[in-house]
Amino acid sequence: MLDTKDNLKVYGEYKLQLLANGINYDKLFLEEYSRRGKFIEKRRAYGNSDEQMFSKDIKVPQEIILPEGLVVAVNQRNNSKWRLYFENEKFYVGDGIEKLEISFPERPTFYNELLEDGRGISRIVTLYGNATLGIFSPGHCYYWNSGDECKFCSLQPTRNNQADHEMFIKPSIAKEAISIALNKEKNRVKHILINGGTIKDYDLGFKKHIEVLEGIRKLELPDSVQTHLISMPPMDFNLFDRLAKTNSTIAMDIEIFDEKLFDEICPGKSNEYGRDRFINAFKAAVHSLGKGNVYCGFVAGLEPLESLIEGMYFVASLGVVPAVNVFHNDPGSHFANHERPSLDFIREVGKHMSIIYRDNDFTPFIKDTGRNSLDTEAYLGCYL
Ligand code: SF4
Repeated sequence: MLDTKDNLKVYGEYKLQLLANGINYDKLFLEEYSRRGKFIEKRRAYGNSDEQMFSKDIKVPQEIILPEGLVVAVNQRNNSKWRLYFENEKFYVGDGIEKLEISFPERPTFYNELLEDGRGISRIVTLYGNATLGIFSPGHCYYWNSGDECKFCSLQPTRNNQADHEMFIKPSIAKEAISIALNKEKNRVKHILINGGTIKDYDLGFKKHIEVLEGIRKLELPDSVQTHLISMPPMDFNLFDRLAKTNSTIAMDIEIFDEKLFDEICPGKSNEYGRDRFINAFKAAVHSLGKGNVYCGFVAGLEPLESLIEGMYFVASLGVVPAVNVFHNDPGSHFANHERPSLDFIREVGKHMSIIYRDNDFTPFIKDTGRNSLDTEAYLGCYL
């Protein structure tokens, strides 16, 4: 019989497979998924990872939950050998050779609640990964204005066609919505995540995020709930001190460590902000928030393995935790037809993440809920 550690390795391997290949599902599965009524529907606040789109009345899954609680994004791919299916009253994921019984996050009750002004709370807050309340504002990124958007990003086409979220969310509205969501889901929520597109005035954009966090921190959050920010860094590094007062962690996503590829793939981030300034921002943020509370987001699969791994160890040497998302080729992005990373590639990334987390005593960003990342699994030692 397998012990928990062996089980984790098996399920961690499933996650690698599902992120490398994407997942497909059929009509019968979707009918049953919708018929049950209790499962969460996929919502798209900042990107779309699915090849096939359905009418609004058909629910498609956002994540699956593997045994041991590992959460995996459902990035739908027509040609994936991995399939979600329903058989003998149970849901499975399988590739025709092996299969695993799975579950899904339940639809949160706050999705049906209204704010005082009559707007639906689901327009403000999205539940991710079964335990993270996410607020994405602004729902636009100025890099798209000039064609300098990151090549893997599908924010603008998704917002134009598929999102049902507010474009700008004021701190008072964020606070009201989070308060209600937390009350309704107090036993499930572990994280509150603030995120948004980039505006031209980096300091103003950063201050707006901090104001949302300051508003939310006025609620008496239970100790079990952490707050987090994903943002471009500010120009004025003194703002990290103000962020530190909200007791939040921050992820700043350089995405690509190789200098030339960073410039090609993230032209806005490279030309408008700059790689050197990014690295200085990490040092300043660690000075204000402390080692292990600052994260650097990378995308795995768009640069050579060697440079990605070099980047992960480099940021770790600054006291910054590498947070790695596995690349998915989103329709609507420039890289819609880009190859996805191989299984061996992401397994190797996972191994080095495990080593870095273990040796530096790091904990993952939005622990237990990162659906496209390997952070929690690396932390749990799945890839050692
Ligand atoms: S910074 Fe890049 S990834 Fe983020 S929203 Fe803008 S274009 Fe998309």
